[in-house]
Amino acid sequence: MSTPYPNLLAPLDLGFVTLANRVLMGSMHTLLEDMPDGFGRMAAFFAERARGQAGLMVTGGFSPNRDGRLAEEASVFDRESQVSGHRLVTGAVHDAGGRILLQILHGGRYARHAGMVAPSPIRSRIMKFTPREMTGEDIERTIDDYARCAELARTAGYDGVEIMGSEGYLITQFLTPRTNQRGDDWGGALTNRLRFPLEIVRRTRQRVGEEFILMFRLSVLDLVEEGNVWEETVTIARALEQAGVTLFNTGIGWHEATIPTIAHMVPRGAWTWTAQRLKASVSIPVIATNRINDPAQAERILAAGDADMVSLARPFLADPAFVRKAAENRADEINTCIACNQACLDVIFRDQLCSCMVNPRACRETEMPIVATSRVKRIAVVGGGPAGLACAATAAQRGHAVTLFEVADRLGGQFNLARVIPGKADYGETIRYFGRQLALHGVSVHLNRRAEANQLDRFDEVVIACGVTPRVPAIEGIDHPSVVSYADLLSDKVRVGPRVAIIGAGGIGLDVAEYLAHEHPGTPEQELEDPDIGGFLDAWGVDRQVAAPGGLVGKGNMAAARTITLCQRGEGLPGRGVGITTVWVHRLALAKRGIEILSGVDYRLIDDAGLHLNVGDEARTLTVDNVVLCAGQEPARELHHALRSKGQSVHLIGGAKLADGLNAVRAIAEGTELALTL
Ligand code: NAP
Ligand code: SF4
Repeated sequence: MSTPYPNLLAPLDLGFVTLANRVLMGSMHTLLEDMPDGFGRMAAFFAERARGQAGLMVTGGFSPNRDGRLAEEASVFDRESQVSGHRLVTGAVHDAGGRILLQILHGGRYARHAGMVAPSPIRSRIMKFTPREMTGEDIERTIDDYARCAELARTAGYDGVEIMGSEGYLITQFLTPRTNQRGDDWGGALTNRLRFPLEIVRRTRQRVGEEFILMFRLSVLDLVEEGNVWEETVTIARALEQAGVTLFNTGIGWHEATIPTIAHMVPRGAWTWTAQRLKASVSIPVIATNRINDPAQAERILAAGDADMVSLARPFLADPAFVRKAAENRADEINTCIACNQACLDVIFRDQLCSCMVNPRACRETEMPIVATSRVKRIAVVGGGPAGLACAATAAQRGHAVTLFEVADRLGGQFNLARVIPGKADYGETIRYFGRQLALHGVSVHLNRRAEANQLDRFDEVVIACGVTPRVPAIEGIDHPSVVSYADLLSDKVRVGPRVAIIGAGGIGLDVAEYLAHEHPGTPEQELEDPDIGGFLDAWGVDRQVAAPGGLVGKGNMAAARTITLCQRGEGLPGRGVGITTVWVHRLALAKRGIEILSGVDYRLIDDAGLHLNVGDEARTLTVDNVVLCAGQEPARELHHALRSKGQSVHLIGGAKLADGLNAVRAIAEGTELALTL
């Protein structure tokens, strides 16, 4: 069978081993590593992805010693007694035909415990504690610990290791003057700063022999002040290659960087140029990474010769069978990672188990098996937003006879609004995915159809997923013609003038501010097909030459096409409820665009003069052409009440169940979980 992805599916010969294809499932810390029954669950997690034909996978980070563990109870691999647990993982992966590396990660000053160490005692702005400066003895011991960890990994059956040398962790801390201010042989000139990773690679190679994959994740763009320049990165890469690295994975930006690197506002493929430049300077394979989530996009990167492999991490949470579906010409069935971070990274930073918004089974494979039903039921799902789609698709997959009613002329609910926000076009992919699942599993879909209580008697179960209606706050003059709802704005039913006030600074208020900041927001289709990478790098002040330290040049170039004022009654910063890994990007962008934020406001009146409000004791009138309402939502539950009073078996999910803190992670999880019980 011919494939549209010949480069993606081509094997990669590493000399002593051949990888089945060019797709790396990049390392993700899921927290499974730190759970008491973690190895069994990791085995299930990775085996499912090996069956999905990932060419090579990497575990989450394991520290080579206790100093480097990321948190008090975080994973360390430093003892023989831990080998048997790891064997569960490697055995399951190999049985499923896959290959897996152990990632060795020492947190350095990014560790979150009192015993943290670093090349110099400099606290990171994102961390609470100041690290202890490593002695020469500490450094020697730590290098040996890396090599020993790799040896243990080999004993445990791993195909190799990835040495984590990017993202601002210990190795990166040695490599840059920002964090390495030592006066001994391990600091100062690049040849000294480079000694630490070089010794790690040399001693590791000695310990594990030639026929063991030694992948090094190299920071090719630090995105922090006093980071390295390109010339230094090339020197480091060439030295590491000489020392015995098999292939380079690339890393973009430190965790403390103030430039987004993987969140949804980063265009697809925004950093591929770094892999392309590195590939031109070394002779071993190079892997492109970050915001690669589509097989056609990955194929283009490889066909252009920009990289030898592509790394996808979160996309394997969203769809374990990414590669298999591409190989079988079923790319339209791929559940695409939409880079929301809401169920993975945001959750990990709260020390909770990682999962995925669009695939709630991720990391819960053992708890949420999809089992065929033994009694086929007739199920009505009312509402084709994220909750209803997930429920209908999963119930039908289990063999139920499912009918879905949607009052609008298309599926997707609130995701149809999200996908028009600049940087959120990927949300449309979720609608495409679920739409395809409904078709594949024979769901009968009725669009433009308001389901009435008296038409649902024939169903064994009714699921109400009618979503929400935008809240209309009780403000005098709220029916003034200048007032528009976010839903009407984003569905292009209304246009607004050059001066706009936004009522409500939650997730949707921030999104609307971003939308209005653009003179002519491109279409979602344009954003996916022709991502404006140059515009993004320019906006955030990234220098493709990496001639300045860290690749930073100036403060970037962002503006707003309108005068925008974002208002909230609460005190504090805007974006309450938005995830930790994206809210800072929104806040920074608001500031860079000169968008005014008013907190602690009391709305008084809307009239021809604009929006009148009090900010503390000060009365102000915002002279605006339009007021956009982003004041949260109310649940749409009328049908639920009607059916319950008739005694029908009825279930309530998603925004219709709880509109406050409406959240697609919960909506899709509720839809999926309910379908597994019906
Ligand atoms: P939200 O986050 O609950 O924010 C609603 C906003 O409306 C708040 O700023 C609230 O602030 C204001 N508000 C509430 N009642 C009001 C009233 N009666 N009068 C005036 N203002 C009122 O809701 P949302 O912005 O609609 O977002 C919905 C959900 O989607 C949230 O869970 C949100 O986190 C999520 N979402 C997330 C993202 C993301 O993570 N990137 C993006 C979009 C949406 P005050 O009460 O202080 O005025
Ligand atoms: Fe991707 Fe969002 Fe799922 Fe994370 S939660 S894997 S970012 S879709």
